[in-house]
Amino acid sequence: MKYYVGIDVGGTSVKMGLFNDKDELLERISFNTRTVEYIVDDIYENINKLFASKNLLLDDLKGIGIGFPGHVDGSTGTVVYSNNLVAHNFEIVKLLKQKIDTFIRISNDANVAALGEYHFGRGKEFKNIVFVTLGTGIGGGIIIDGHMLEGKNGAGAEIGHMVISTNGQLCSCGRRGCFETYASATALIRNARVAMINNPTSLLWKYAKKPEDLDGMGFFDALAENDKVATIVFEQYIEDLADGLTNLANIFRPDAIILGGGISYRGDSLMEPLQNRLAKMIYGGQWNARVELMVSTLKNDAGIYGAYAMCTKLK
Ligand SMILES: [Zn+2]
Repeated sequence: MKYYVGIDVGGTSVKMGLFNDKDELLERISFNTRTVEYIVDDIYENINKLFASKNLLLDDLKGIGIGFPGHVDGSTGTVVYSNNLVAHNFEIVKLLKQKIDTFIRISNDANVAALGEYHFGRGKEFKNIVFVTLGTGIGGGIIIDGHMLEGKNGAGAEIGHMVISTNGQLCSCGRRGCFETYASATALIRNARVAMINNPTSLLWKYAKKPEDLDGMGFFDALAENDKVATIVFEQYIEDLADGLTNLANIFRPDAIILGGGISYRGDSLMEPLQNRLAKMIYGGQWNARVELMVSTLKNDAGIYGAYAMCTKLK
């Protein structure tokens, strides 16, 4: 039998899954992310551990897929730039191949998670999907008929930096009004903190002594208690998120847009108003096929499944 390792590199931990060629996840392992100069050694050591745990021989390892945060060039196997892991032109595939000579494929972590969701998660039933992760920023992966749309040198699919408000808030990329400055999890909490300062009677104060202590859980607890300030912040958030998603729906007309990241698991309070706004604003409205809005089912495993899929399913 042939075996594969899917690797999801994150800023705090690296998750790895051992798969066989029947798409079965046999074993998983994870370790804390150290600085980038250790990452190849750490991956190699943990691949050995995975194979030893199942009494398998490394000779039967037929492919390694890697999802890595930042700008990743799959054609050269290079991490061009990663903010999270402070890497620049890091030739990770070449270095890993010096230890294990097998097929190795790397891409941006959001592209890889999208591929995982496409083959093994919520996207299984669809031909074309756009995957959107709502986290510190907004990541995106676009899968068209089984192909990952990575763009030139892998720098594409940066949907978080689509402007939705001209001359809007300053983004870390240098432009103003980017989607992620309005619709990331970070943006939601930042806006809630500002609203808290302006509204001393808000229930948000029950969940945080100081605005900077307010977290997502506190915000959603206040929202569940129908706090007026939290409700206004959330309604604005949904409006901004729906604007960006409608742009994506109009450009790609995918079968579905799949959301990932903590906020997407809020259920109907998020998904219903979002789907309604999307249906209302989308070009052609009722006359065109609906774009389904769905929540990731693989959640934190989308990365390892997608990394595995890069070895065996990618067109
Ligand atoms: Zn930006």
